[in-house]
Amino acid sequence: MRTDIKLMKQFEKYYNEEVMQPFLRAVIDLIRSTGFKRYVIPRSFKKRLGVITKQWLKKYEKGLISIFDVINEEVYYTWFEELQKQLPRQFRYKNSEYLVDKQKKRILKKVSGRWLVHISLVKRATFDIWKYYEVDGLKLSDRIWKVSKQVAKDIQKQVMLSLQTGMSARKLRDQILKLAEQQPVEIPKWLQEQLKSADPDTIAKVVEKYIQKKQKYNAMRIARTEIQRAWRVSYVEQAKKLPFVKGIKWNLSKSHPEKDICDEYATANMGLGPGVYPPDAVPHNGAPAHPHCLCYLTTVLDENIIPSENK
Ligand SMILES: [Zn+2]
Repeated sequence: MRTDIKLMKQFEKYYNEEVMQPFLRAVIDLIRSTGFKRYVIPRSFKKRLGVITKQWLKKYEKGLISIFDVINEEVYYTWFEELQKQLPRQFRYKNSEYLVDKQKKRILKKVSGRWLVHISLVKRATFDIWKYYEVDGLKLSDRIWKVSKQVAKDIQKQVMLSLQTGMSARKLRDQILKLAEQQPVEIPKWLQEQLKSADPDTIAKVVEKYIQKKQKYNAMRIARTEIQRAWRVSYVEQAKKLPFVKGIKWNLSKSHPEKDICDEYATANMGLGPGVYPPDAVPHNGAPAHPHCLCYLTTVLDENIIPSENK
């Protein structure tokens, strides 16, 4: 399995266990303790929900940050392995000599008779994923922050809808009872059901479903996109460092359901072959072209690499 996809799965597991479950428990506790006896959402509820949502946001962001740290290393190793398969052990490029050091996973270059480290994980660490977010103008926390505000609003909306249904059901029941003052009357089943919508337990169930389905979907969509962005932008930055990388190929993932902009990126020919771009001209600098984009990049080497044994 692709390492980037493995990391996405790892994040999803973390999200379910460490982020969503505590959030769910806190929101349900809050709903039960509030009770909503007067069919209104008290200010204390909104305030507490804001605090709980902020805690959710912090854990969510913390998880992404630690995944980014892993990405920083894993992109390098994945890329190095790919490169190692393509490169002859000893090779030359335009009057310079390079050497693949498989053990230490680095590439050396001969400069005035001495072998110097040209590419290594340590050297690579100077590229910082976080810098990219600032260059882009929108930091990760800004991106997530937008979602978190919506989360609190949507939960309140779910509660409000339940309360409104319960309140109008009560009004209707009161009217029925008033009209039938002197005789016993049976409240219809559907009305009894609606009366229950304002019960804390029923509200909790509605909100629980919302958090497990829609809110999780939104959170994961952003996380997947950000993980893909971090992965692929790091990959492109990495490839730019080698003079003999001719291009970067945009490949469609196997689970590519329908035609979209990615089909164009993967087939456009700029003279280097279908889907191959000069390293500094990759669409979006390699970042996903749309949410759920699982395309992946590969390196295309300049064929003018001559094994030095043949010289
Ligand atoms: Zn795509």
